[in-house]
Amino acid sequence: MPVGTQGTVKAVPQDTLESLGAQIILGNTYHLYLRPGHEAIRRMGGLHKFISWPHALLTDSGGFQVFSLNELRKVSDDGVHFRSHLDGSSHFFTPQHSIDVQIALGADICMAFDECTEYPADRARAEESLRLTMAWARRSLDHFRAHRHEVPWHEQEFLQNNDGVPPVPRIWGPGRPLTSTYGPSAGRTQSLFGIVQGGMYADLRRQCAERLVEMDFDGYAIGGLSVGEPRELTLEMIAETLPRLPKDKPRYVMGVGYPDEIEQYARMGVDMMDCVLPTRAARHGLLFTSEGRLNIKNKQYAEDQGPPDPACDCMVCRRYSRAYLRHLMHTSEALSGTLNSIHNLAYYLGIMLRVRDSLATEIQSLTPDP
Ligand SMILES: [Zn+2]
Repeated sequence: MPVGTQGTVKAVPQDTLESLGAQIILGNTYHLYLRPGHEAIRRMGGLHKFISWPHALLTDSGGFQVFSLNELRKVSDDGVHFRSHLDGSSHFFTPQHSIDVQIALGADICMAFDECTEYPADRARAEESLRLTMAWARRSLDHFRAHRHEVPWHEQEFLQNNDGVPPVPRIWGPGRPLTSTYGPSAGRTQSLFGIVQGGMYADLRRQCAERLVEMDFDGYAIGGLSVGEPRELTLEMIAETLPRLPKDKPRYVMGVGYPDEIEQYARMGVDMMDCVLPTRAARHGLLFTSEGRLNIKNKQYAEDQGPPDPACDCMVCRRYSRAYLRHLMHTSEALSGTLNSIHNLAYYLGIMLRVRDSLATEIQSLTPDP
C-alpha cells in the first residue's frame, strides 16, 4: 500500500496511482484529524470522495503518529494526551475517539487504537504496553460495532445497491454527486483490524495474537516492527506471530520495508504491507532498481542517457534518462519527486504483482487436473 499521509501519496496524482495498478492506499488519521479535520471530511462525503480515490483506503489509528511525538504525549489507561506538532494545541485520543475519527473519514479498513511499544523495551515495559493495547483493542471493537453505520457513504451505498443499479465507474469530481456504489454488497460498512503488539518478545506476541483472534476482528495487523530493531528480529517476530493469525482473514505487517523484505514477508503469508520508503526515498533521490539501489544525485549519472532501470517499463523508465532525473534533483525541480516516486512505486507494485503471479501458478500446479 502506497502511503498517502495527508490524503495524497506525496507528489503522485491519483490517476497515476491508478495507472500504476495501486489498489489501495493508506491515509494517516492523526494528520487528517488535525488538517482539514475529520468532521470537514465527513461533511464532504468521506475521504474517498474528498481525495477522489474510488478504490480501497485504509486509515491507521493515529497511535503510531502519536507515539512518534515522544515528549509531546502522555499515556494513561484511558488514552493519550498529546500536543499537535503544528501549533502545540492539546488533544486527547481514546480508542473510542480514534474510531469515531476513522468512521468519519470513511476508509474501507480502520485500525484499532494501539500503543506501539518502542525499541528497545524491557519485558516489564513491553507487558504494560501490551496490556494497554489489548484493553484498547476491546474498546475499539465495541465502539466500532456500535457506530459503524455512521460512516458517511453507508446510506448512499445502501440506496444504490437496493435499486439493483449495476456499479458505474466511481469517478468523483468537484460538485459531482456520489453516483456510484461502494463496496461489494448492500449494507456493507467498514472493516476493523486488530493490531498485535508485544515488543520483541515472541511469547507476548503469541499471547496478543490469540487474544485478538478471540475478539474476532475482520483482519489482523502486526505492529511495532521496523522501529529500529535488527532485521532478523523483525523476521522472527513475524514468523512467530503469523501462524497464530487466521489464514482466511487479511494479515497485515505495518510499516515495512525494503523491496527484498516485502517479497520475503509476502511469501511467508503476509497479505498487506505499507511503507513510506518508496516515496520518501524517491524524494531524496534514492531509486530502487533491478540492479540495486541507485542514488540519482551521483555525478556518475550526469550524462547517463540510459533509463533509471533498464528492466522497468514504467512511464518514467520508458521516457526519461538518468541524466535528466539527476538534473531535476540537482535543480530542486518539483517534477523530480514526482518522477522518482512513480518509478519507485512501479518497482514496489511490480514485486507484489510477481509474487501474486507466482503464488497463483503454485496453486494451479497443486490443483489436480479434472
Ligand atoms: Zn521505472
